[in-house]
Amino acid sequence: MGKIKCIGILTSGGDAPGMNAAIRAVTRSAIFNGLKVKGIYRGYKGLVTNEIVEFKSQNVSNIIQQGGTILKTARCKEFTTPEGRKAAYENMKAQEIDALIVIGGDGSLTGARIFAEEYDVPCIGLPGTIDNDLYGTDTTIGYDTALNTIMECIDKIRDTATSHERLFFVEVMGRDAGFLALNGAIASGAEAAIIPEFETEVDQLEEFIKNGFRKSKNSSIVLVAESELTGGAMHYAERVKNEYPQYDVRVTILGHLQRGGSPTAHDRILASRLGAASIEALMEGQRNVMIGIHHDNIVYVPFSKAIKNDKPIDRDLVNVLRELSI
Ligand code: ADP
Repeated sequence: MGKIKCIGILTSGGDAPGMNAAIRAVTRSAIFNGLKVKGIYRGYKGLVTNEIVEFKSQNVSNIIQQGGTILKTARCKEFTTPEGRKAAYENMKAQEIDALIVIGGDGSLTGARIFAEEYDVPCIGLPGTIDNDLYGTDTTIGYDTALNTIMECIDKIRDTATSHERLFFVEVMGRDAGFLALNGAIASGAEAAIIPEFETEVDQLEEFIKNGFRKSKNSSIVLVAESELTGGAMHYAERVKNEYPQYDVRVTILGHLQRGGSPTAHDRILASRLGAASIEALMEGQRNVMIGIHHDNIVYVPFSKAIKNDKPIDRDLVNVLRELSI
């Protein structure tokens, strides 16, 4: 592998607030270190179809505060096939891109890992997902902003829940991870969180009812992580209607508004640090790692570890939620 002179950068999979701050950081840090930068549009799709543009410092001006991604994002079926990845590699070579920085979730980093192994291309991943489900980093880019959005929404829902003395199930994102639901519940003073991690351990609805709903309160908010494992908020509302018909139950699904908005200071700083660290890592000769932050230090996490999908939930948080919701 020769010296890296030009990097390509792409955002892939679900968008997350702070991706733009990461694009800015990677671009500026690369240019600062004498590298050329090419922006690849629509994730792996742009690599397959050659939608690639040279980025100068000005291309990333005035974007740190914007949600979404100026590079756009997409899901790309072709890239999951050997033919698609071959086309991507040929475009990369024709564009004289020596290394890739991929900002995305576990699917995107899985793609990067396979591509890197197949074509011996240096790839560095940045954790960009609101779900916080990548192992090896304390938080992912977008998670803190989504958490704040959830908190603000629940503050509003609480006004209605209290006035009407209702039980609200609020469905939040997170795929098969309960971080948004659990920490969203703590941040908004909700009564409980139903998360995929505990789905096989206990009947979470029964626990919640048993632990005190209606002992000291007339209204309640329960966050439910969207997941095939939990069945989502509708599933739990149906169960309450059947099993506890005395309760007045309502459902709110927060949906895509959790993905949008201007990133918080935390996400902007995280994205800036990770972006700068990705260039440093490349120049140190690192490859096929995700850059993360653990205990406020930059860490390099091999792709195989980051995407293993077993980032543990801190069980102390569950106890905190339980204690504080009496
Ligand atoms: P996220 O990165 O948010 O988890 P996806 O799971 O949708 O999002 O993955 C984004 C893209 O990454 C996919 O559309 C595909 O192009 C690529 N990708 C995902 N899994 C693989 C795989 N096993 N092999 C190659 N590419 C993959």
